[in-house]
Amino acid sequence: MNNNIKNCLTCGKEIHREDSPHDYAFKIKKFCSVECRHINDIVRIKGVSNTYAVGLYFELTLKKKLENDGWVVFKTEYPTKLLDLIAFKGNEVMVIQAKTHNNNPTILDKLEELKNFKRAFPNVTVKLITKEEDYEIKCD
Ligand SMILES: [Zn+2]
Repeated sequence: MNNNIKNCLTCGKEIHREDSPHDYAFKIKKFCSVECRHINDIVRIKGVSNTYAVGLYFELTLKKKLENDGWVVFKTEYPTKLLDLIAFKGNEVMVIQAKTHNNNPTILDKLEELKNFKRAFPNVTVKLITKEEDYEIKCD
């Protein structure tokens, strides 16, 4: 076993001894990033899967970002699957589906569902946000 490398408990990424200022810091280090530490907290506290916790952490990060931009944001409760966040600012209403895994349902499935939502509520800003991209849904 290589004592100079260990793996992040959340994502499995390698943590190298040379990234830590002291041996002691390396010894107690369990995660590659603050994000991974928070995700692990969510898994422990809520008793959910790692995949679920990654999604939840991403939603909470987006919520905080919008609140910093002056939006009032509500997170929908499970099992509401279509929308994760509902935000209000002035006369504007925005709904957001956050997606961290392109699994079942896929991003394309979600975009299709959100298009239906947009048709029903054309004045609402509808977004699907992934780690890589923001998609704003437009009416056809
Ligand atoms: Zn990690």
